[in-house]
Amino acid sequence: MKHYSCDTVIIGAGIVGVSTAYYLAKHAPDQRILVLDAGQPMAFTSAQSGENYRNWWPHPVMTAFTDRSIDLMEQLAGDSDNRINMNRRGYVLATRSDDVDQLMTELHTGYSELGGNAIRVHDNAAAKSYQPPLLPEWMRAPSGVDVLRDQRLIRKTFPSYDPTLQTVVHVRRAGAISGQQMGQIMLEHFRQAGGIRVAGRVQSIKTGDGFCLELADGSVTAGQLVNAAGPFVNTIASMLGTALPVTNTLQQKIAFEDTASAIPRAMPFSIDLDEQIIDWDEEETALLADDPQFAWLTEQMPGAIHCRPDGGDDGRWIKLGWAFNNTESQPVYEPQFADNFPEIVLRGAARLNPSLKAYYGRLPRTMHHYGGYYTLTKENWPLIGPMAAEGSYVVGAMSGFGTMAACAAGELCACWVAGAALPDYAAMLSPARYHNAALMAELNAMSSRGIL
Ligand SMILES: Cc1cc2nc3c(=O)[nH]c(=O)nc-3n(C[C@H](O)[C@H](O)[C@H](O)COP(=O)(O)OP(=O)(O)OC[C@H]3O[C@@H](n4cnc5c(N)ncnc54)[C@H](O)[C@@H]3O)c2cc1C
Repeated sequence: MKHYSCDTVIIGAGIVGVSTAYYLAKHAPDQRILVLDAGQPMAFTSAQSGENYRNWWPHPVMTAFTDRSIDLMEQLAGDSDNRINMNRRGYVLATRSDDVDQLMTELHTGYSELGGNAIRVHDNAAAKSYQPPLLPEWMRAPSGVDVLRDQRLIRKTFPSYDPTLQTVVHVRRAGAISGQQMGQIMLEHFRQAGGIRVAGRVQSIKTGDGFCLELADGSVTAGQLVNAAGPFVNTIASMLGTALPVTNTLQQKIAFEDTASAIPRAMPFSIDLDEQIIDWDEEETALLADDPQFAWLTEQMPGAIHCRPDGGDDGRWIKLGWAFNNTESQPVYEPQFADNFPEIVLRGAARLNPSLKAYYGRLPRTMHHYGGYYTLTKENWPLIGPMAAEGSYVVGAMSGFGTMAACAAGELCACWVAGAALPDYAAMLSPARYHNAALMAELNAMSSRGIL
């Protein structure tokens, strides 16, 4: 039986808890900080991330929040000789429609604070001011967004794409990082700053004068508590006698070696925005349609399937994902994945990159099929700030953006805990936003929540 005592305990050593520990150690160097996790650090949801980042959101608050996170990631990249493998070829949002008024409105809303030249529309093939994503380096890439509305320009820049595309939105402050390396760097600094890490599952919490956390073989007492339990934020919240408005949906991905060289290594993270009927052949369609369990696979599927090269310009692997699952589930530590997902995501992704058809029915045996939970609020904004029990805080509901937003989320939570100055977006990202009727009405009326 071991007993620990500290000023602040952080429950959860995923990327969000680790980042909170890192920034709290910076903001409050005199505090004794303890990070507690039932398993290894960075081993649950944070190990399943696609590790992509972007500052594109349909609302300026989320743009500002992720921009701050990208600033902080750039600092980490700069300070560590880019140990976090940050690159910036952008995000591409592609559609066969030339009626993109809605998308343009969202871009103008999301980037409204950036002003001036943030959104650049290219209507002809020459497009002299457009910089194609030739190089991976983040330092030299442009910011803002390029909207390509000329088919010759799209084909010249992105030759692997479906030739029927009409519009390509190229978000420039976007790319990939190694979330695992980022967590590792933060943990190293946290330990050097005197932070403590303990393995153990929180089974119950007593409140009163601070918090007493019961573990299977010990306990932790703390003056303040941070709930960074990822998909289990509500389990921890219920131990504190409260509830958070979050749900979990299981999302899957596949990664495999691109032995057929279907995807150019310089292709940005690419998202097909259009709905589609999956490309099954006639026989497959008939078989699926006859089976009530699988008939939905022959019907219209949502857009936002995504594909990117993985492992750098000299690598061979690619990653595909499609967050179409909306069914809420209770989180478990070892979720089961659908056997048919690899073929579903492959067929869906082949619509944007037809060369992927080379893998129909023959995905490499070394393919990795994995996934985890998007833990999210209805409006898909995070929850960062004080919870009901005095001295307790939450940093969670990080949906499909927890890797890219971890730095800003950890910094913000650290500011709340340390009583430091808060950024403008703090109140809107805290649980207190549910008392802001005007904001909630605006968020509930939004047609896009930025889920990819
Ligand atoms: C398939 C998929 C793809 C994704 N792709 C991207 C992407 O491209 N870019 C991006 O930015 N984000 C992405 N995300 C989202 C991102 O991975 C998550 O938002 C992020 O990892 C959440 O981190 P976390 O620290 O909140 O949770 P976790 O990593 O789950 O950490 C929570 C920790 O809390 C611990 N814990 C829980 N309960 C207890 C308890 N009772 N006692 C002790 N410890 C406890 C757990 O053991 C766990 O280690 C993706 C997510 C998924 C599922």
